[in-house]
Amino acid sequence: MNNEYVDLRSDTVTKPTPEMREAMAEAEVGDDVYGDDPTVNKLQEKAADMLGKEAALFVPSGTMGNLLAIMAHCARGEEVICGDKSHIYVNEAGGMAVLGGVYPHPVANQKDGTLRLEDIRASIQPDDSHRTITRLVCIENTQNMCGGVVLSVDYTKQVGQLAKENGLKFHIDGARIFNAAAALDVDIKELVAPADSVMFCLSKGLAAPIGSMLVGTKDFIAKAFRGRKMLGGGMRQVGVIAAAGLISLEKMTGRLKQDHARARNLYEGLKQVSGLRLEAEPSSNMVYFTLADRITLSENQIIDEMKKYDVMVDWSAPRQFRLVTHYWVDDAGVEKTIKAFAEVLK
Ligand SMILES: *Cc1c(COP(=O)(O)O)cnc(C)c1O
Repeated sequence: MNNEYVDLRSDTVTKPTPEMREAMAEAEVGDDVYGDDPTVNKLQEKAADMLGKEAALFVPSGTMGNLLAIMAHCARGEEVICGDKSHIYVNEAGGMAVLGGVYPHPVANQKDGTLRLEDIRASIQPDDSHRTITRLVCIENTQNMCGGVVLSVDYTKQVGQLAKENGLKFHIDGARIFNAAAALDVDIKELVAPADSVMFCLSKGLAAPIGSMLVGTKDFIAKAFRGRKMLGGGMRQVGVIAAAGLISLEKMTGRLKQDHARARNLYEGLKQVSGLRLEAEPSSNMVYFTLADRITLSENQIIDEMKKYDVMVDWSAPRQFRLVTHYWVDDAGVEKTIKAFAEVLK
């Protein structure tokens, strides 16, 4: 059942567990566009309950979840304050602008993944007909491009407070919010309490094959439900997928600390490998490093060489790699990866 490769390219590569496949085969289903799929309904109730919000919506991808949130919160011509290294700004094909008519207002992500409160405050547009109307603030937790760093409960509260004081909505791109909660050792409810809406992915560290969840108030989810239909994301007997998502919530959220511990072991091991410059100690399931100057192999040559040792890796920027631990990477996989890098770069 396990992969023949140690695949560290992303936690999106996680395949469903045998238990998930069984649940998928046996799932009770109905037409979810009519709200008739009992497995989807159960998943949505469970997600809303775990995050302490009124309602939830199952969506095909995190990208669609974020877009739906932005479109539900903002009208055309309004703007979103977001990080300049955030997924919604960099990695969603400009969907908010292209499809939502919503303007992104990027603010610098600090090394620790945060947006400085004073930068957010300074970005809120004055009431002036020359300007767009600021409607939404979005943060990302864990912050992927800053190293999978974790934003604290306290910081999230401060952003929520700032948003409230200025009449703005607050969305969390929480693709890996369960990793953040595990790293902080807090109840996820507490971490997302200040937010009006949260998106999180079932298909990453939580190992489901497909799907993300959007959570918020009933009114917000009703808007997102309509938006999902408009974007072509209304699915029919989708309980076959939601069944895996239920196992993600019930069984996978509690084990993410293991992935974080393995990321730390990988980091410690790779620190001993000559030719690599490790970045900050991982705070969740991602290890970032750059190649030392003496390494003349290209990124793609390294990827090909690593494959000969049955290890799959990927680069994230020129001379920079990102390795991601997940359910299908065990201790032996971590050891194998460290040894393979030592051989390839010697
Ligand atoms: C993966 C990811 C998403 C959404 O991704 P999909 O591939 O569309 O499911 C959104 N935000 C962040 C931070 C992500 O890492």
